[in-house]
This record gives sequence, C-alpha cells and structure tokens, in this order.
Amino acid sequence: PDYRKATFLQSAGKVSQCPTDTGWEVAFAGRSNAGKSSAINSLTGQPKLARTSKTPGRTQLLNFFALSDRQRLVDLPGYGFARVPKAVKDAWTRQLEKYLQERQSLRGLILLMDIRRPFQPFDLQMLEWGSAAGMPVHMLLTKADKLKRGPAEATLLQARKRAETYPEGMSVQLFSSLKHTGHKTLVGVLDAWLTDTSVLYD
Ligand code: GDP
Repeated sequence: PDYRKATFLQSAGKVSQCPTDTGWEVAFAGRSNAGKSSAINSLTGQPKLARTSKTPGRTQLLNFFALSDRQRLVDLPGYGFARVPKAVKDAWTRQLEKYLQERQSLRGLILLMDIRRPFQPFDLQMLEWGSAAGMPVHMLLTKADKLKRGPAEATLLQARKRAETYPEGMSVQLFSSLKHTGHKTLVGVLDAWLTDTSVLYD
C-alpha cells in the first residue's frame, strides 16, 4: 500500500462500532508519549494525521485510517486514557481486549516503546493480550536517536532476547521519527501483514 495515501476513516468507542471486518488491518499501540503519533505521521508523511486521534472528543478507543478499501491502519489509545474516569477506562480495557481477540482482519500489532524505558506494565499487558489472541507483534524501540549507538544496540539485543519467548512470533527494530531510522524495515513488516499471502497457497 501507499502509506502516503492514508486517510482518516472513523473512530470507534467500542468493537461493535468498528468498520466492516473485511480485508486486513494493523494496529499501533504504545503508552502515551511513546512516539506513536510521530511514527504514524512520519510513515504517512502527513504531519496532522495521527493528531486527529488526540483531538478532544475524538479520543476514542480505536481510530481507523484507510489505505485502500481493503487495508487499514488502526491507532489504539496510548492510555491518553489517563484523563478519563475509571469506569470509562475499565470499559475501554474490556473493549481493547475484545478487539484483539475477535477482530478477523487484524493481522498484527505494532508495539511502540520508548527505547529508554521498554517493557512497562502497559506493554506487558498488550503482549499478554496479543499472545492470547494469537497475534504476531513487531516492536519499535522509538526515539532511538536519544541513545548512542552502543547502548541502543544493547537494548535492541535485550529486547530480541525477550522476544524469543513470545509464542506468536515477535520482531524488534530501532526506530526514530526524528532521524528517519528504521522506516524501511517498518514498511516491510506492514506490507507483509497487509497483503493476502494466503492466496498463494489456495
Ligand atoms: P504519542 O503520545 O505516543 O503519540 O507520542 P508523540 O508522537 O506525541 O511523541 C511524544 C514526544 O516525543 C513528543 O515531544 C515528540 O516530539 C517526541 N518524539 C517522538 N518521536 C521522537 C523521535 O524519534 N526522537 C525524538 N528525539 N523525540 C521524539
């Protein structure tokens, strides 16, 4: 797909409001401030695209972006969550788990973690739900420019070590929206997930 052609499709507050469950989609998850909006914006070359999901009133559970009539990117809330009442938060948590569990078109999860503090409780929760849902995960160690090359590579190796224990398959890469590091690798993963390779074996 041409990521530069991404357009905002719709927001959904619960799974029942999602667009029709056909084709393929990939979801982006990360704690608030992990660099998710910056990554989506740099991927699509549209500085304002992901910010739409931060607009008050649009801070919903899931924000859908169309790449074509059969391919979508989905922005999951980064616990921008923090500002909502506990009852709403609990309801969203249930819906998020339900989305990961039930969504047929969901092909994989991009999990963004600030390279300086990876594997926080939110990330571990996403990995637990991801594995329960049989979902492959591709991890971005974001803001890689914040560390020198040595420490960045060391963190990458540690993360890859942890990834080996994830049952559904996990890959990890360095990423920097600021320095445009890792863009091609990310596109490679998305292209693979958003394309129906099973057709080859029919
Ligand atoms: P989100 O809450 O996950 O959507 O995070 P944002 O994309 O809004 O980024 C949070 C903060 O981190 C902002 O101040 C960004 O400018 C900064 N940031 C995001 N990506 C990078 C990066 O690759 N390098 C650096 N140095 N800062 C970044």
